[in-house]
Amino acid sequence: MSAYAELMAFQRQTEALAQIAGRLGWDQETMMPAGAAEQRAEEIAALETVLHARRSDPRLAGWIEDAVALDEVSHANLRLIRRQHDRAVRVPAHLAAEIARVTSLAQGIWAGARRSEDVAAFLPILSDVVRLRREEGQALARGGDPYDALLAGYEPGTTTGQLQAMFGALRPRLVALRAAVLEAPEPAPLRGTFPEAGQIALATEIARAFGYDLNRGRIDKAVHPFSSGSGNDVRITTRTDPADPFNCLYSTIHEVGHAAYEQGVAGVHLLTPVGQGASMGVHESQSRILENQIGRSRAFTGWIFGRMRSLFGDFGIDSAEAFHRAVNRVARGYIRTEADEVQYNLHVLLRFDLEQALMRGDLTTGDLEAAWNDRFRSDFGYAVDRPSNGVLQDVHWAVGLFGYFPTYTLGNVHAGCLHAAMRHDLPDLDADLARGDPSRAMQWLRARVHQHGSLRLPRATIAHATGHDPDEGPLLDYLEAKFTDLYAL
Ligand code: ZN
Repeated sequence: MSAYAELMAFQRQTEALAQIAGRLGWDQETMMPAGAAEQRAEEIAALETVLHARRSDPRLAGWIEDAVALDEVSHANLRLIRRQHDRAVRVPAHLAAEIARVTSLAQGIWAGARRSEDVAAFLPILSDVVRLRREEGQALARGGDPYDALLAGYEPGTTTGQLQAMFGALRPRLVALRAAVLEAPEPAPLRGTFPEAGQIALATEIARAFGYDLNRGRIDKAVHPFSSGSGNDVRITTRTDPADPFNCLYSTIHEVGHAAYEQGVAGVHLLTPVGQGASMGVHESQSRILENQIGRSRAFTGWIFGRMRSLFGDFGIDSAEAFHRAVNRVARGYIRTEADEVQYNLHVLLRFDLEQALMRGDLTTGDLEAAWNDRFRSDFGYAVDRPSNGVLQDVHWAVGLFGYFPTYTLGNVHAGCLHAAMRHDLPDLDADLARGDPSRAMQWLRARVHQHGSLRLPRATIAHATGHDPDEGPLLDYLEAKFTDLYAL
């Protein structure tokens, strides 16, 4: 057996075990009886111990050294395994264990601090998380920039400098667009109540229309929508709010975007490193292009309007045009996860700049809240009213996810690039969308992005699909054209 074959056989079992760990997590959020929580924590910890031992197995280094890549796919698999192994061995075991311990503690403290609006209660443990993750970044970077090294954990091959240039160009035009839109009259909201059964039925109908294969997936309810798994078992969750059907519909479309990506990877890559999405930023582009560029388009919302009228009767909106405006309503708000297309990226840019400053030691946790509130007022035009609407709103920093936030906006930037290329190739797509049929858009994504999995680095994945390196131009052009038209600016 060649070193490459031995390595891949070993890796395949690791991938299979990782899928099982993911499914335990899925079960915990959907089906698990409440009384099983403690036992489940022990089961997951046991599996994580096995996974950690396999990922740092002493035989790996030799196999990686001796393995010969004979084609593009084996070359990519080796690159991915080597990268994971390099990152695992650079971080000392005691540091990895300390990060796991402190971040699990920090989540509980963050939740309590958020409930009682008490920033000071969160700061000491946040300082520990920042210090430990900085140490980890330094160990990974070996003399390079620690933030770059942490970012590479989510977005390999993309540098902080590239993101700074991209985001620097986004910010002034988004601030200007946000200010102009919020001065215009607000569109009418939906009225009435929307029974759960109808919401789930329509969400399922839309998921199928987007090509989500329920023979290899399923939709369940959970507190927070998410997608889980890869290959032939990719599950999503959704939630319903009787007063707000868009919550269910658009979070379902979002998760279907993630799931369709994983289901669309070519079957030959099953349970290999190539057999999964290329990065967080590429993944998010697949969810956002479905949710926003397609799902919130005039053509597709026209079809949803008709389906909602027949399911729910009169809900206070009498035309497809008014419904399109309601779906795309821009309103003042503080919370990133509830933000519309215009304001969402401003929330992310704020976190990106602050977390870099924290990681580099240019900002102390003691000054974090003031820095957050100053930046918010400057970009959004009004003041944060309480910490749970400001610095305490997201769990990410408590979990130690430094370098993760920018992948949300990168996903939107990538979605902008993909959407421009798709519309160029499919000029009459709106006629399909107006009939509730996005299948040609999905075929385009499957051929250009999905089937290739992690064959290429993230930026090269987008460049391969669109013919050029990703940049922020198409996203900005799309947002300005859409909201100038919608708000008659
Ligand atoms: Zn997502």
